[in-house]
Amino acid sequence: MSNTGKNYAASSVGDIQARGRVTLHNDLSLTGSEISINELPPGVGLPFLHSHKRNEEVYIVVKGKGRFQVDGDEFEVAEGSVVRVDPPGVRCITADAQSPIRYICIQTEAKSLVQFTEGDGVILETKPTWRK
Ligand code: ZN
Repeated sequence: MSNTGKNYAASSVGDIQARGRVTLHNDLSLTGSEISINELPPGVGLPFLHSHKRNEEVYIVVKGKGRFQVDGDEFEVAEGSVVRVDPPGVRCITADAQSPIRYICIQTEAKSLVQFTEGDGVILETKPTWRK
């Protein structure tokens, strides 16, 4: 399912557990970030370490638990954990032996954020359609 308008794109990624990994760059025509939704089964980790050239990453664990590694430092992550990694950070993630791990990874160009939340948002007088 997808739905687009002049100023938006909406889609569904479906069953993350079955798909394992979904990237939103193409589905939503993202222009400032790449976002992936990932799930690793129990005992499964990414088979490689990696770093980035320009992008920082934020990992948001939304289900399960596992372990994270950055530059040789290893630590536990679980639902609610958030991890930022600078571009040169050498990283990897694995699910716990007994638990899957589901996480969202947001990639954005490091040091590109110039305004956010109240600094960028504009509150309008118009009410949402469901508030009429
Ligand atoms: Zn990455």
